[in-house]
Amino acid sequence: MGEKGMGRVLVVEDELTIAKTVRLGLEAEGFKVTLAEDGLEALKQVRKDPPDLVLLDIMLPKFDGFKVCRLIKFARNTGHIPVILCSARNSEADREKGRKAGADDYILKPFNLVELIENVRSRITPVTVASS
Ligand code: CA
Repeated sequence: MGEKGMGRVLVVEDELTIAKTVRLGLEAEGFKVTLAEDGLEALKQVRKDPPDLVLLDIMLPKFDGFKVCRLIKFARNTGHIPVILCSARNSEADREKGRKAGADDYILKPFNLVELIENVRSRITPVTVASS
């Protein structure tokens, strides 16, 4: 059994300190993490090597998170991948935009890392889950 199909998270975030914190937290829990710093890079990665979940910042260079989300969720090959949108803006309009873009969840920044990891874990299984 390889690593494919389990626990691979693409973190899309242009603020590197946040990206690195999230990466460390998820890796400590056994998830395999790749990073993308802008919307275009995120789409390229998703198409080339689909992850099991995408954690997607909304305010990004090139394509914003809503657009990236839509392009992931409304494509035949990637529509099954859970997408969690992250934003510092807590507006109902943005949440609605997220729902329309097909997002599975919408969480607020700054996020609680423990809650974020629990959220991810409720959707996918870590790569290094102990097998008995
Ligand atoms: Ca951002």
